[in-house]
Amino acid sequence: MKYILVTGGVISGIGKGIIASSVGTILKSCGLHVTAIKIDPYINIDAGTFSPYEHGTSAEIFSINEHVQACHLIVYPSLCPGELGGTVGDIESMPFIEAFRQFQFKVKRENFCNIHVSLIPQPSATGEQKTKPTQNSVRELRGLGLSPDLIMCRCTTALENSVKEKISMFCHVEPQQVICVHDVSSIYRVPLLLEDQGVVSYLSRRLNMPIETRPRKML
Ligand code: ADP
Repeated sequence: MKYILVTGGVISGIGKGIIASSVGTILKSCGLHVTAIKIDPYINIDAGTFSPYEHGTSAEIFSINEHVQACHLIVYPSLCPGELGGTVGDIESMPFIEAFRQFQFKVKRENFCNIHVSLIPQPSATGEQKTKPTQNSVRELRGLGLSPDLIMCRCTTALENSVKEKISMFCHVEPQQVICVHDVSSIYRVPLLLEDQGVVSYLSRRLNMPIETRPRKML
């Protein structure tokens, strides 16, 4: 079983869901069995009506190992992209990040990787694509014990090469690990965008899984 954790930085609604499902789609088109889990960090309990006897919910979060692996027993997929809702650094997502930090060691490096989705703003005053929010969110993620294997940059227009190199340099990843996911007219174009930038071959090497690549029209 291979796990791909999709985290997000800078703002919510950045496109984690679309990226998690797009990665799932392209890997499925390569013949892999794929399932997905969405983890929503909101603690859906009203403190006013919370029974004093209902304690230990945090402890349950730390048993995420069992929850995520239980899915393995039910559907027996060979690959599981999981989306962690919210933004890295939010107080409500902290226990989940910690649970996944522990989880990555439990399942071993070749079975777990992280896609971090971040924002490259382009203020109209200068028209420049800015990397600082991404640098900060990657630093924050690393500080919490997760290191991004792919940094997926959400931007309004395609990422300039110099910007890609800057992200690679300051976030300590190879340029091919920086993926541009600019705004597209239809979200169904996102899988093609990812495939064109070598995401399948990267994941195949990183997760040590032989992947039979399919013709583009299969997506
Ligand atoms: P999150 O999971 O981070 O909350 P979503 O995946 O739900 O974000 O995406 C938020 C919104 O942005 C959705 O309406 C989605 O259709 C849109 N969106 C995501 N990625 C893109 C993209 N590359 N181009 C255009 N719209 C996108």
